[in-house]
Amino acid sequence: MADKVQGMPVIDFGPFLEGAEVEQRAVADQMRQASREWGFFYLAHCGMPADRLAQTFATSKDFFALPTEEKQAVAWQNAESNRGYVGIRRERLDPSRPGDLKEAFNLAPDQSEPGAHKNLWPAAPPHFKAVMNGFLDECIHTADRVLEAFALALDQPVDFFVDAHNRHHHTLRLLHYPPLPEGFQPHDGESRAGAHTDYGSITLLFQDEVGGLEVRTRAGEWIRATPIPGTVVVNTGDLMHRWTNHVFCSTPHRVNVAPEHCHRDRYSIAFFCHPNKDAKITCIDSCTTAENPPIYDSITAGQHLHEKLTDTYGA
Ligand code: CA
Repeated sequence: MADKVQGMPVIDFGPFLEGAEVEQRAVADQMRQASREWGFFYLAHCGMPADRLAQTFATSKDFFALPTEEKQAVAWQNAESNRGYVGIRRERLDPSRPGDLKEAFNLAPDQSEPGAHKNLWPAAPPHFKAVMNGFLDECIHTADRVLEAFALALDQPVDFFVDAHNRHHHTLRLLHYPPLPEGFQPHDGESRAGAHTDYGSITLLFQDEVGGLEVRTRAGEWIRATPIPGTVVVNTGDLMHRWTNHVFCSTPHRVNVAPEHCHRDRYSIAFFCHPNKDAKITCIDSCTTAENPPIYDSITAGQHLHEKLTDTYGA
């Protein structure tokens, strides 16, 4: 069985990456249970090289330390490209609350299609582009292995999800939550990141040692997803929720402003996986029965994402 930290499962991915079929099956079953009950789990031994991760965090930190004008030179423009720098309070993940106390930088794997959006690369730090492109490759590799386990968990052919994601319409997001001043009193409902669900299929979240992430249980209670060194947090998004007919849940989460950590910088890196824009998201057959018919009509992944992004940015 998976270990538990404050209830949220910790799954060892090593046996999936290196084990025989029976061990892979066991890991997939743990993911199935975790995705049904939580929509979140920690993944240990996910295959991401520790030095690569450390280098990426260091480079992210260097970028956010730049003067605001330099960061604004690569400012986020619109939901369609969804790339570049997003300043503090620009974004409201919970549209009913004030803007979030964080800054972010979005980038994405290069697309070969004509008219594809391009990344906005900052002039500094000088190695930024190379580090981020290298990290993107590692994230794609890790995410594809997780998607294979998900396919197994849902009794689909092993490449079911990987094939639907093979154009890599993913987003990598560097996040910085600046320290809040002593005596800071949040306005009503203000937070480092408001309560939200993720839009896509799965998200990989790499956290530093500063806490703050909270996940809402099915009973409606907020629990802390305390950082565990050497693990990545995996959660399922709205699109997976829809695709699996609510078998795998998309769970609200937020970053709070608790006094024990809100005066420290917090850095995290999220890799949001999205299927190919033209992938048809139709209820997976193992997630429906005569008594439990599909809840949603088919939608393309691109249409789903666009609807979600225009809600968040008020575009
Ligand atoms: Ca999120």
